[in-house]
Amino acid sequence: MRLVIVGPPGAGKGTQAELLSESLGIPHISTGDLFRANISQGTPIGVEAKKYLDSGNLVPPEITISMVRDRLGEPDAAKGFLLDGFPRSVEQAEALSGILTDLGVSLDGVLSIVVDEDAVVDRMLARGRADDTEDVIRNRMRVYADETAPLLEFYADDIIEIDGMGEVADVQQQILTKLGKA
Ligand code: ADP
Repeated sequence: MRLVIVGPPGAGKGTQAELLSESLGIPHISTGDLFRANISQGTPIGVEAKKYLDSGNLVPPEITISMVRDRLGEPDAAKGFLLDGFPRSVEQAEALSGILTDLGVSLDGVLSIVVDEDAVVDRMLARGRADDTEDVIRNRMRVYADETAPLLEFYADDIIEIDGMGEVADVQQQILTKLGKA
């Protein structure tokens, strides 16, 4: 399957995507993880991306889109993939459509994890990632509302809504059921 998972910061996208990629046998492709790996390895992408991650702003589209294009072209993504953290704007969604057209494939669905945004701030503060400070979280929430939430309309016909406020295992079960894979 070819899936995208969207949701506000702290919605549990990464956790759910990791579990789902195991049960479906498809790679979990997280742009956040790819950027963090580049940063820790000190690559040119990492050097450029660091200031954006540190402030909670979006990494510029030309860097992000070419990184995703390269990753989706790798052999393991041929059988399917679960994209987490991309697209994060309508511009990126349009770029993804072009990449998928070039690869001759299409998306099977867009999982939208719905949470109470105030409630998930505590989850993020507990996680303790470098960009999980209150100011940066607030900015990521604002960027989500301005840039990413419009995707829900862009993908309206493909959205599979998931209630993300339950226990990890229950949310996962809900996803599998809605995908017809339970
Ligand atoms: P979260 O969903 O908790 O905000 P991510 O790991 O998905 O965490 O993203 C962390 C940061 O990585 C973002 O705040 C942003 O700076 C950068 N990033 C991730 N994906 C993208 C993307 N598609 N476009 C631009 N920047 C991105």
